[in-house]
Amino acid sequence: MHDVIIIGAGPAGLSTAYWCDELGLDTLVLEQAEEIGGQLHRVYNPINNYLGLKARNGEELLERFAADVDAAEFDLWTQTSISSVDLRARRILLASGEELQSIAIVIATGVRARELGVPGEKEFAGKGMIKSGTRDRELFAGQDVCVVGGGDAAVENALLLAAVCPTVTLVHRGKKLRARREFIEQLQSMHCITVFTESVVTRIIGDEQVEAVEIKRKHALKPFQLAVRGVLIRIGVEPNTELFSEQLETDERGYVVVNSQQETTVPMVFAVGDVSNPVAPTISSATGAGATAAKVIASRLTPR
Ligand SMILES: Cc1cc2nc3c(=O)[nH]c(=O)nc-3n(C[C@H](O)[C@H](O)[C@H](O)COP(=O)(O)OP(=O)(O)OC[C@H]3O[C@@H](n4cnc5c(N)ncnc54)[C@H](O)[C@@H]3O)c2cc1C
Repeated sequence: MHDVIIIGAGPAGLSTAYWCDELGLDTLVLEQAEEIGGQLHRVYNPINNYLGLKARNGEELLERFAADVDAAEFDLWTQTSISSVDLRARRILLASGEELQSIAIVIATGVRARELGVPGEKEFAGKGMIKSGTRDRELFAGQDVCVVGGGDAAVENALLLAAVCPTVTLVHRGKKLRARREFIEQLQSMHCITVFTESVVTRIIGDEQVEAVEIKRKHALKPFQLAVRGVLIRIGVEPNTELFSEQLETDERGYVVVNSQQETTVPMVFAVGDVSNPVAPTISSATGAGATAAKVIASRLTPR
């Protein structure tokens, strides 16, 4: 029996564990991936918005987190696959057959990038599918590329690529781009960027590498093909809640509903970080939520 079991070792889960450890709680973190860090592995941009600390990218920030994690005394199991969770009983069954029990459970499973779900998307991974404008732009310099999406991430990546690519085509399903004004203004001054709104990419085409995308515009009878060598998809994220979404309240987009103490609708089950925060999915929000959950759990377990 553990005091606390935390599911997920991204910034939110690690911060919760760090605080729980400091507060003297017997804490176990379960992480399905080989390494801790969650989305930090995909942050190639500089992190300039974490108060008091700057990092060149997610990996550098993670190195700092890892130093503190190593020094702490909580248990951390990576590559751990969970078969099922009974939130009310606070019982977790692992794929290995082992059963775990705790007084509190903290859900810190974060979000994953939404996929387009069209032919070619998976087949061309590493063969023209661009992971990040920051990381990959030198690789695609001088090539025509397509970016799918209309939010901040899509437009920011289109701008980054436009600095090195002859043409960038931005394809967005909606009527209007959703990105912040500053990005849209920059976009309008970049003549190499073409924007197709009310349009979808229906296929990614090529032989060994990406050679074209098929685009369907809303009122057009037929799709057309556009020759490109790279495709970057930024169409948002979805919360990782498959394990327990039936057992607690989620909002219309599937995010776990919590109160100001990070409590879910199930007693002694908490949620922290992006999985419960569609409004401000950031590292500082995630680590702050972890501190709140740990303090609340400690106050419930420690007799006054
Ligand atoms: C490209 C990019 C750039 C960003 N730039 C910034 C920035 O500059 N500043 C900023 O503040 N934020 C930035 N962010 C956002 C920031 O990375 C996230 O807000 C933060 O990582 C959220 O932390 P989290 O722990 O809630 O979730 P995640 O980081 O998503 O971690 C969740 C963890 O849970 C694990 N997990 C999921 N399901 C299970 C399961 N069933 N069992 C066990 N483990 C599970 C996952 O493997 C993962 O390790 C950026 C994100 C991206 C993608």
